Amino acid sequence: MGENGVYELKCEVQTYAWGKPGASSEVARLSKLAHPDFNVEQNQTYAELWMGAHPKAPSTILSSGIALSDFIKSNEDILGSKVANLFNGELPFLFKVLSVNKSLSIQAHPNKKHAEKLNQERPEIYKDPNHKPEMAIALTPFEGLCGFRPLTDIQSFLKTVPELQAVVGSVATEQLCSCAGKDEAIISSCLKSCFENVMKCDPDVRSAQIQLLVNRVSVMDKISAEFQNTLGELLLRINSQFPSDVGCLVIYFLNLIKLSPGEAMYLGANVPHAYLDGNCIECMACSDNVVRAGCTPKYIDVPTLCEMLDYSPGGIDKQKYPALQSDTDPYVKIYNPAVDDFAVQCISVPNEIKEYTFESVDSASILLVLNGKSTKCTGNAHLRPGAVFFIAANTKLSVQLEGGLFCFRALCMLN
Ligand SMILES: [Zn+2]
Repeated sequence: MGENGVYELKCEVQTYAWGKPGASSEVARLSKLAHPDFNVEQNQTYAELWMGAHPKAPSTILSSGIALSDFIKSNEDILGSKVANLFNGELPFLFKVLSVNKSLSIQAHPNKKHAEKLNQERPEIYKDPNHKPEMAIALTPFEGLCGFRPLTDIQSFLKTVPELQAVVGSVATEQLCSCAGKDEAIISSCLKSCFENVMKCDPDVRSAQIQLLVNRVSVMDKISAEFQNTLGELLLRINSQFPSDVGCLVIYFLNLIKLSPGEAMYLGANVPHAYLDGNCIECMACSDNVVRAGCTPKYIDVPTLCEMLDYSPGGIDKQKYPALQSDTDPYVKIYNPAVDDFAVQCISVPNEIKEYTFESVDSASILLVLNGKSTKCTGNAHLRPGAVFFIAANTKLSVQLEGGLFCFRALCMLN
């Protein structure tokens, strides 16, 4: 292998409208740091950096301009034999940096079996047969919605927000409010009825209630308990981005999660979620299967959504995903969800360490440098902030460092 198994990548930037503008976007900042010729326009939004072989926007090998997807096709062994066998010769994950300025659609992803069925029945909407587990790791304070709230929270909103109750209906409200202490299955089914009533409500009736709610909250004192208890800030924010959208009511069902840098949330199958604000690293299985629930101009498949969701209520602790210390490298922490498709390492080498060797792993991996510089290294891997590398399986990368190193590495951890 010409470059000792380490290939610098040139990665595509997606300028979706929900991204952060200009230099305030981590995507733009990192792209500019690694490639000074990258032009950052103050009025442009920079939403995502795609690091991988996704056919819609594959990264290219910087030195040759070859698409990573083509490169892998003609050099399958660089994936590692286990990965190549399990994933039919394809890189199973897509690694991203996200800069979120405006909330993304509220959504959930089907499990593998369900994805296969949806793809078979409606290939025009569900374009591939794969699941789409996702992991988001905060780079800056990061906000999102994730999983159903604890039962007591939802019960209390139903009591204190009459507009929500009007949409949910009195029967479903009463059932949910009296199901404490009952069987988990009963609680889930009561919660489902309430959520379903919101999603299936006549849009005009629902919009009218949301408008009443927004009008009422708009004149509240911003520091009052009433404003807090009605999630006033979040409601007004979502409504300003998506006026009268069903998402304005979905916020009363889902946990609002605030991640500090380094904290993560894992979005397994059927967990409703949305990203609201901040910069993060994201890793996901290669798929486009999204079932939406609000805050989107795109198609919302209400029946599929309502049937598939995981209606188990719970707090935010259940949704945060811990990183584990590596057994073999003191500078590595691993976010390793219970899927084969990907894991993410966070590598943080302190200033005083001048030489560092990235562990050789039996999987292709993608390395994103956030901080630090190499002065000397294997091949020509010139580590610097914003630089992205594809590392072939079973490659040992040794670098000499100046001033520490902070990076993320996506890989597969198969047994
Ligand atoms: Zn998602």
